[in-house]
Amino acid sequence: MSKVYFVPWKQNTDMVGKFKKALKNSNILDNINKGDKVAVKVHVGEYKNTSHVHPLYIKELVSMLLEKGSEPFLTDTTSYYCGNRFTAVGMIKNAFYHGFSYANIGAPFIVLDGLGNGEGFPVKVSEPLNEIYVPELFKEIDKMIVFSHCKGHALASFGGSIKNVAMGCVTKKSKLAMHKFVNFCYDETLCDGCDACTEMCDREIPKIKNGKRILSLEKREDCMHCPGCMEACTKGAVKLSELEKLQHVLPIAVEGIFKILGKENVTSINWGANIVEFCDCMPFPGSRIKDNIGIYLSKDIVAIDKAFLDDAEKNTFMFDGRPDPEIQMLQGERIGIGKLEYERIVL
Ligand code: SF4
Ligand code: SF4
Repeated sequence: MSKVYFVPWKQNTDMVGKFKKALKNSNILDNINKGDKVAVKVHVGEYKNTSHVHPLYIKELVSMLLEKGSEPFLTDTTSYYCGNRFTAVGMIKNAFYHGFSYANIGAPFIVLDGLGNGEGFPVKVSEPLNEIYVPELFKEIDKMIVFSHCKGHALASFGGSIKNVAMGCVTKKSKLAMHKFVNFCYDETLCDGCDACTEMCDREIPKIKNGKRILSLEKREDCMHCPGCMEACTKGAVKLSELEKLQHVLPIAVEGIFKILGKENVTSINWGANIVEFCDCMPFPGSRIKDNIGIYLSKDIVAIDKAFLDDAEKNTFMFDGRPDPEIQMLQGERIGIGKLEYERIVL
């Protein structure tokens, strides 16, 4: 049975200090050796997002990794959709604005997928994804610590450690491939031609014709399934469908990353605080849907997400037609990336 260390959240207490103690009192950093190149996979948040993991927690982790004589660096991949994090330069600026600077943290921020256009190398994975494209830098990494913010997600329902690795450790090509598992449906009877979706789409795919939305034929292939137009439509005319398919492919992408790094070399930390409706890719991530719960540490990527979800209750994330987030974990155990059963150790 996998161990999940848990630090319960208590208001008006030094949670950063408690986290530091948990790093010392758990075994999750036992495999970090002198000279190891350790990637700390973070999400620095889209520009102006304030719900992402606070950099002070990352700083404590980095201090501990430095004490062990390893060479930690913060990292993430560029986004596949337009925005501040689309290029490496934009992403590094964003990291700096949000406090993930060398001066604050004590480790550099290195973008995983080069300047942001690298295709990466293919890795065979299970059906129906079949292959993922992984940044070249993974060939030089010894260990990875996945530091995830637990929150809602418009497509994946819930984002934790599995989601962070699946979408955050592959190149743009695979991010798009995974998003294309989700479909959109459009109910013309609900559309009043308000234009909100056309303004939202950077790729100029939706158009208004005779007071209704149409999709420009020549650009349809460029659709990134992002899903900006769905979020912009307050009339409910644009909806997502087949979201379960994305839940199924996320753990499959993790399978590919584990093939490269070795499952035993990946450790997860889940920050169960600022639990909001939308992910850190959104500048304005919506309302809080749950009070702060605590911080989780584990060497099992499935067990850690399951432990958080058990505490947060999966129904919390199943609103607006969002599917059962536990699918990610069930699929994860089925393909062998981790275990659903865990032993909780409260620190
Ligand atoms: S935002 Fe919705 S209601 Fe407005 S034009 Fe687009 S589909 Fe129609
Ligand atoms: S999902 Fe909507 S906003 Fe996103 S690229 Fe496609 S048409 Fe544009």
